[in-house]
Amino acid sequence: MSLAPATSLVRSRFLVRIPIDADDAVWFHSLFGTSLVFSREAEALLDLFRTPTTVGIARAWARGDVLPALGRLVERRFLVDPAVDERRDFVRRMRPEPPETGAHLRCLVLLAAEQCNLACPYCIKDHLMGLRPARRQARMTVATALRAVDAFVEVAGRNAHEAVAIQFRGGESLLNPPVVLEATRRLRARWARGPVAASMVTNATLVTEAIAAALADLDVSVEVSLDGPRAVHDLVRPTRGGRPTYDAVLAGLARLRAAGVAVTNVNTTITAATRPLVDGAFLAALAALGIRGVNVEPDVLSPVDPDPEALAGWLLGLREEGRRLGIDVGGCWGRALRSIGAVGSGQPLPLSEDYPLLVVDARGQVVRWEYNGEEELGPVADLPGVLASAAFGRHVQSRTPGTIPECLGCEVEGLCQGNASTTLVYERATGRPGLFQHRCALIRAMTRGVLREEAARPAGAETPFAGPAVIKDAHDEGGAWAHGLATASAIASGPTTASSRSASGAAPG
Ligand code: SF4
Repeated sequence: MSLAPATSLVRSRFLVRIPIDADDAVWFHSLFGTSLVFSREAEALLDLFRTPTTVGIARAWARGDVLPALGRLVERRFLVDPAVDERRDFVRRMRPEPPETGAHLRCLVLLAAEQCNLACPYCIKDHLMGLRPARRQARMTVATALRAVDAFVEVAGRNAHEAVAIQFRGGESLLNPPVVLEATRRLRARWARGPVAASMVTNATLVTEAIAAALADLDVSVEVSLDGPRAVHDLVRPTRGGRPTYDAVLAGLARLRAAGVAVTNVNTTITAATRPLVDGAFLAALAALGIRGVNVEPDVLSPVDPDPEALAGWLLGLREEGRRLGIDVGGCWGRALRSIGAVGSGQPLPLSEDYPLLVVDARGQVVRWEYNGEEELGPVADLPGVLASAAFGRHVQSRTPGTIPECLGCEVEGLCQGNASTTLVYERATGRPGLFQHRCALIRAMTRGVLREEAARPAGAETPFAGPAVIKDAHDEGGAWAHGLATASAIASGPTTASSRSASGAAPG
């Protein structure tokens, strides 16, 4: 965009402000994920554009050479053409192809087994399927899995992308190892254009040496569920027969690691009862096992703490302990931060994690969500027919960032990308109001908290996390010109009082 004197610019209505201290604040774009740390003086410059203002007026206002700063703000979409429709641009970028082409489909999700050998009291699948007793829990056949892989390859092969992925979810996927192994083998054999990422979630209690070796051979990465130290885990993750499983999980984990399987992270569900014992000592024990990532997920159906801000405060403390131990403590809030981190390091805003998924249930039906009993979209064996259906079009519309109905106007809308939408599905299915709002409030509080903490770290502080490190870079970069403007007295006039500055920065979309 030209920065000629007559060029008119306005501050994006999608900016969010997070105060760091009395002087500085982080700002980010709630759709495109660009971010910068601003000094008060730099905020005054941004504030000049609360209504459409020309570059010429800004130059006169600032007296010094403000063009590089304006260029940076335009590049980051903080200042935009007043006529631009930012939401439309964002949706076009997120969904460049019509749904019926299937061009967006990059990951096949197979619900290998709806059953599980454990009986965790917070299990969403059991709750939701329990609401539909007539629909018996099923196990996928190898024939169905291979049909799904073939159908997926046919569609993916018509499109331009090189990398594809396959994920296995349950229930417990390892109640059905033939599906995991045969489907992965088939996809690796049929997809030669680029990399195939295979992954699964497991409780690890059924991992034998033979299974671990087969997973390693097929390069299937694994997430393992472990809910805390022995006393906690055995309390909430017993077998269907009521036996403890902590030792079995650790034995399975050891077999996976011995075979060379990539254990990408541990998943730890916390409940109100278990939270006090999920602490630094637990993280230290995981670090000793070689684990480098933990997803701490609060129980969805029964909020761990009625106050999401208080829960976020506790999670931030745990995250800080993890940082000291070299463990990345993530969770449902992580997607928004990963998006900001990716954009800050110069990568494109990641595609939504839901949007490119083709989810196939154990009976071979394409479904919108696992286990919720909502509309099935049709058999995967007729994938072209499914893609052409109006129901699939509506599904894609409802999962494309920028058009997810429940997310419109959220301050992390384009970054979290509906990561808590499944909670809304559970809320509707179970009739428990407020679950979605609670989850979203936690996500927003964590996004603000992590950004505030990382931006406040001293320059050069080591951090193993891509997102925050990028924010620090943004701070340095933004600080150079923002503080430079101030200390050189380049801003000779213009409002810098608190009353002239944005109070919240957040604007509904
Ligand atoms: S409304 Fe909730 S799910 Fe949607 S983007 Fe915001 S935090 Fe994420």
